[in-house]
Order: sequence, then C-alpha cells, then structure tokens
Amino acid sequence: MTKDYRRYSYWLDSCGDDLTPREPLPGDRDLDVAIVGGGYTGLWTAYYLARSDPGLRIGVVERDVCGFGASGRNGGWCSALFAASRQRIVAAHGRDAAVAMDKEMRATVDEVARVVAEEGIEADLCKGGTLTLATSPAQAARVRAEVAEEAAWGGDHVWLEPHEVERRVRVASCLGAAYTSHCAALHPARLVRGLARVVEGLGVTIYEQTPALALHEGRVETARGTVKAPVVVRATEGYTPSLAGQRRVLAPVYSLMIVTEPLDDGRRETIGWEGRETLTDGRHLIIYAQRTADGRIAFGGRGAPYHFGSRIEDRFDLDDRVFGELQRVLLQLFPVLQGVRITHRWGGPLGVPRDWFPSVGFDRRTGMAWAGGYVGDGVATTNLAGRTIADLVLERDTDITRLPWVGHRSPRWEPEPLRFIGINAALKAMEMADAAELRTGRPSRRGSFVRRLIGAG
Ligand SMILES: Cc1cc2nc3c(=O)[nH]c(=O)nc-3n(C[C@H](O)[C@H](O)[C@H](O)COP(=O)(O)OP(=O)(O)OC[C@H]3O[C@@H](n4cnc5c(N)ncnc54)[C@H](O)[C@@H]3O)c2cc1C
Repeated sequence: MTKDYRRYSYWLDSCGDDLTPREPLPGDRDLDVAIVGGGYTGLWTAYYLARSDPGLRIGVVERDVCGFGASGRNGGWCSALFAASRQRIVAAHGRDAAVAMDKEMRATVDEVARVVAEEGIEADLCKGGTLTLATSPAQAARVRAEVAEEAAWGGDHVWLEPHEVERRVRVASCLGAAYTSHCAALHPARLVRGLARVVEGLGVTIYEQTPALALHEGRVETARGTVKAPVVVRATEGYTPSLAGQRRVLAPVYSLMIVTEPLDDGRRETIGWEGRETLTDGRHLIIYAQRTADGRIAFGGRGAPYHFGSRIEDRFDLDDRVFGELQRVLLQLFPVLQGVRITHRWGGPLGVPRDWFPSVGFDRRTGMAWAGGYVGDGVATTNLAGRTIADLVLERDTDITRLPWVGHRSPRWEPEPLRFIGINAALKAMEMADAAELRTGRPSRRGSFVRRLIGAG
C-alpha cells in the first residue's frame, strides 16, 4: 500500500497535487546520467543538465515520491546562508574564496526566483529578506556583532531599532533586529513538486517508489533493477547513511515544525508582517519562521535528538517535547496567538557532515557526483549544487566550479556510540546555553564555544 504522503508536512498537504507516485523503474535501464534522490538537489541537477544538453538521457531514482524528504518539509527559507563559517573557508581557501562564496549564495537566491518565474512554478515566493530578532540583551549583543561582521564582508545587513522592527512585524520583548534582503520565503513542496514537473517536461524520466540500494561506478542498484550510467549522482542528503557503504558520510539530524491555522484579520493586523520576511532570533538552538502566503505562521526549530546508528524512522518526525517547546516560543514572540489552533506538526532529517562543511563534487575518473551536507541551509544551496554538478559533468570551467566547497571531502563521522554521544551533547549544550542566557541576561560562553566547535560561528 502506498503511504499517505500528505501527512508528512503541511506543505505536502497543501501543495496542490495528490502526490500519487509516478511509475517505478520497470527493470534494467541504460542512461547517460542516473540521479539518486528526488529532492531539490537531484531535481536542480536534472534541470540544469537537461537545459544545457537536451540530448542527455537523464533518470531520477526516488525511493518514495519527489519532495518526500527535507525538500517537501522545510521552513521555506530560500536564503544566502551557507552552513560553513567564513572563518573556516578563509582558513582553508583564503579570503577571496569566502567573498566568492558569499557573492554566489546571494546570486543563487535570485536564480531560484528567476527559474520559478520563468518556468511558471507557483511556489508563493516572496523576497522579503530576513529579520534576526534580539529578544534578550545577550542576543542583542550577538546580533549586533553579526551585523558588524556582515558589514565588514560587504553584506547589506543593518541593525533595526525596536520601532523600525515594529513597522515590519510586531514581536513581544523585541530589543531590535538585524535585517538583510537576501532571502525569499517560499512554499517548499510547491517548489519541489513544480520542479519535478518541469524536468519531466524537459525529457527527464522520474522513477518513484524505487529505492536505490547501492551506488557503484557506472551503475545504481535498486530494488527494481539496475540503472547503468557513466555518471551517477548521489542526491540523498540526510538519507545517505541508509545507502550501502555510506553510513558515516553524513549524520541525519532532525528539525521539526508546526503551523498555525490561517490567522483572522484582527491577529494579522496586530502582528503585521505583510512583507513576509523570514524570521529567526539570536538564540543558539536555531528557530525559524515564515508567514505563509495563506496567512499562517510556520515555525520550526532544532532540538530533537539524534538517533543511535543514524537511524531514520517516521516516528522520529514527531516529538512532543520539541513541539511543546516550539509552541511555547511562538507564543512568547506572538502572545496574540493564544488560542490559535496548530493544524500540522511534522519534522524530517537533514544531513550534517562531520566538519559542518557542505560539499558538491564530481570525480571524473569514477563518474560519481555528489552534493549535500547543507546542515539545514539547503533550499538555495541545492540550486547552486545542481548548477555546479551540471558544469562539472559537462566539463565547463566556470566561476562556480571553482568555489571552495567544490570537491571538499568531509571526514567521516565517528563510529557509534561516539557519534551519538557527541551530537546529542552538542545539541544539549546549545539548549543549556539559551536557558543560561535567559536566566543571567549575559552571553553564554558555553554557547559560543559549541558554535565555534561546530564551525557555525
Ligand atoms: C524541517 C526542516 C526544515 C528546514 N528548513 C530549511 C529552511 O528553511 N531553509 C533551508 O535552506 N533549508 C532548510 N532545511 C534543509 C533543506 O530542506 C535541505 O537542505 C534540502 O531540502 C535538501 O535537499 P536534498 O534534495 O539534498 O535532500 P532531500 O530533500 O532530503 O531529498 C533526498 C531524497 O532522496 C530520497 N531517497 C532517500 N533514500 C533513497 C534511496 N535509497 N533511493 C532513492 N531515493 C532515496 C528521499 O526520499 C528524498 O526525496 C530544512 C530541513 C528540514 C528537515
């Protein structure tokens, strides 16, 4: 029996198609490019390859349906954020490489918007920028420091005083916010489902309900037959550990979300937020929000535990403790939401590399390409990954094939139980740092230490 895919997120439930799976792989096939994974990474790769060379025989092999993974469940922030810290890029590749990465990530937000408009994908995309709120003195210090650092790197970040924030969105206990224009809010599932239809229109074949078992040079073994292709692309992100031989390549870490019912006019007026800026604050354990096109608030955060052995199971998508905490923080920011119904709760795994450094690459000798490890900043980065893989496969030496994440190899994660202990200890430390800052009003040294340790700050 097929799963009811709509129940995996509000976005899949509201994406406007019934998610009936496409036909699976009908047996062995010969292709030019075999892409494993029908999320943004796989589909952007297919898109740019097919657009550049319509003669290529391209197939996407998807275990469930396109958008089943993080691409159909995320917060819908199409942002210029790149997960590896600038300091780390500078240390490994120099200042120019970090500047180039920044520039390309900003351009990528606009590239996603361009394709969405040109291909007629109805993804509710609105480039309203991002607000990073400060709701405690410790957060204010951190957010102000971030504004200064971004300005030094040529970013457009500005500090907004509370009355300036209020003109955009009214949040309780707001001490100010950073604003940058380089982010668009969008409906994630409409983007991924729309993209799947567009690539099919370009002649790409999508095989759904087709689990890949192992990726080899020149072939993908699936539960439904073998696909032979000189180029094989791994686009399975957080699910990568379930492929043969890839258990320690990325660790699946869960992010969870809730969404309110559409707000009534009174509440909408109280909150404002007409510009649909994406919203976060300066705490250590990330939260993220957007006002949806249909007037709801979608609100997510980390904090769910990592599961032993990199296991991924449907039941891990739901964690009452995290949902309770998300609802508490949401009400704290917007007390006017008291009594508003939460209509959907969901979650999903995202891929975290051992050094927090996303990567994309193509080994010409073996024909194996890969991208992933976006650590929760993949909505825009996957587009850059798709363009980069296309250029590498088509042997085009371009600005983007020289970016510092191209060809990067992260070390493997430790074997268990070290992986379990390490990841959960880091998550706990972030939570404790936030609690300590709330109690003392001062920046937590523990939080800064963990951020530095994982390369996030
Ligand atoms: C709750 C949540 C919120 C997030 N919020 C944001 C955000 O606001 N902004 C942002 O930039 N990023 C966000 N992210 C991260 C972002 O969604 C991901 O980085 C991005 O979607 C990754 O796309 P992908 O195609 O690489 O992976 P996925 O979308 O996970 O796609 C992988 C695909 O591979 C398939 N697959 C798995 N195993 C196999 C197999 N054996 N054979 C065949 N197919 C297989 C899966 O079914 C899936 O469809 C969030 C992630 C989550 C989970």
